[in-house]
Amino acid sequence: MSKTIKKVGVMTSGGDSPGMNAAIRSVVRTCAYHKIECLGIYRGYEGMIEGDFIELDARSVKGIINKGGTILKSARSKDFRTKEGRAKAHEQLQKAGIEALVIVGGDGSFTGAMIFNEEYNFPVMGIPGTIDNDIVGTTHTLGYDTALNTVVEAIDKIRDTASSHNRLFFVEVMGRDVGHIALNAGVGAGAEEILIPEENLGLDRLLESLRRSKQSGKSSSIVVVAEGDKIGKNVFQLKDYVEENMEEYEVRVSVLGHMQRGGSPSCFDRVLASRMGVRAVEGLLKGESNYMVGLKNDIIDVTPFAQAVKGKTQINKELMRVSDIMTV
Ligand code: ATP
Repeated sequence: MSKTIKKVGVMTSGGDSPGMNAAIRSVVRTCAYHKIECLGIYRGYEGMIEGDFIELDARSVKGIINKGGTILKSARSKDFRTKEGRAKAHEQLQKAGIEALVIVGGDGSFTGAMIFNEEYNFPVMGIPGTIDNDIVGTTHTLGYDTALNTVVEAIDKIRDTASSHNRLFFVEVMGRDVGHIALNAGVGAGAEEILIPEENLGLDRLLESLRRSKQSGKSSSIVVVAEGDKIGKNVFQLKDYVEENMEEYEVRVSVLGHMQRGGSPSCFDRVLASRMGVRAVEGLLKGESNYMVGLKNDIIDVTPFAQAVKGKTQINKELMRVSDIMTV
């Protein structure tokens, strides 16, 4: 492994996700293992522009593998979208002696990284950290597995109250453009219906399905709705529509919201973060740049940023069929 890089910067950017701390820990310790320095960059590109850095050694990242959120904080930076902002960021990196970057974030963060790399030929590797699992080049983004577990646990609790009162619950989960959380957590929690942006079921078919479920003897129902679902304007409108058309049901809405982003990362996310951090740093040391690290068939591999940010993830059709069969 070539050792031309002496100092690596690590940061978290965009929306936070469980497992980001485990990724920071892995990057820092892989640097220590290869005897190179590591600086943490606070608040993503915002902190990069301001030169808000902290030295991190192997011991300074102890006790964080199990913590949600990110010790480096995260932010969205308007300034980094400008040439002047990126020039300031480059100046700060040079001043601090940072020669390469590992960025844990989503597709926006990678787009920024790609532009920065084009302008300054600055070595950079990305780790996909977002609960939505909407990035091409990895079967799992960091935080996705934890979010699924959080959602399933919440729905299990909602089901207890739903079945005690013969209620129908619409549970809204995150996923503005993609339904991965809704579909997987919905199947995992035994939802009667799953509404995702990728497939417009239509209001009539929804009613039909709920009627069938009632006729089959079910006293309560859970419908999992992704934020970006296209039936109706939002989950409250769905509730109104169903109440108007199905008087037999008492309908309630539960919007899970930001709790889905928090919490201690699952074992899967901790292991994934540890593997991705090692691959990102060792990639930089091999001279790689402009790649996102990802998981493919349980192998840690890389995908060019350009491919990762442009692609659109596909919903799992087999799982949709499984969901249909399970609600017979
Ligand atoms: P999430 O998936 O959680 O939204 P993200 O990384 O996609 O995470 P964004 O807010 O889209 O989050 O991007 C994070 C930051 O990356 C932005 O605040 C901005 O500073 C930088 N960025 C995004 N797009 C660009 C761009 N086209 N040019 C320069 N910088 C960008």
